Amino acid sequence: MKIICVGQNYAAHVAELGHTIPTEPVIFLKPESAILRVNNPFFIPDFASEFHYETEIVVRINRLGKGIARQFAHRYYSEIGIGIDFTARDLQRRLMAEGKPWEKCKAFDSSAAVSAFLPKTDFADLHNIDFHLDINGQTRQRGNTSDMIFDIDTIISHVSEYFTLKMGDLIYTGTPVGVGPVAIGDRLEAYIGDRKMMDFHIR
Ligand code: ZN
Repeated sequence: MKIICVGQNYAAHVAELGHTIPTEPVIFLKPESAILRVNNPFFIPDFASEFHYETEIVVRINRLGKGIARQFAHRYYSEIGIGIDFTARDLQRRLMAEGKPWEKCKAFDSSAAVSAFLPKTDFADLHNIDFHLDINGQTRQRGNTSDMIFDIDTIISHVSEYFTLKMGDLIYTGTPVGVGPVAIGDRLEAYIGDRKMMDFHIR
């Protein structure tokens, strides 16, 4: 399986990082070794000093697809989860300044924390899903899928022009405003609506 991530998909987050609004989805990949299973601790690596949480709605692909038209994209996923796209922000700033690829700062081991999944039939409207992240009991990041620049179906259609989608692939759909650093000892709790989906510690 592979992990496909969308960058810069919420306007207020694009602004907080000082980027311009993209005109097509910004895509990067993580390998399977990036997965951090639900509620396992995240161990801060040594190679950078500023690790940020990015809380994101995650879609799991349920069938093989290539060149998927947007109007059929909904057939290619049936489950919704939440994840943390951990990012070595100081390293990302350096790589971007040097015009280098993002993998070292985005695709490292355990950089893709992911929850269990809920059937999408649990949601009345996939374009209106509230989600949030609490750290040490305080809400630090809150988003709603209505604020996505590119919605789930558009992302699937776009991605499948370039990459064959396979059953079990995960798509991280981008983070809203409010990213920030984690520290050893932090407790992270991620919610979809008021349902707690993840509860784990930074070590
Ligand atoms: Zn992200």
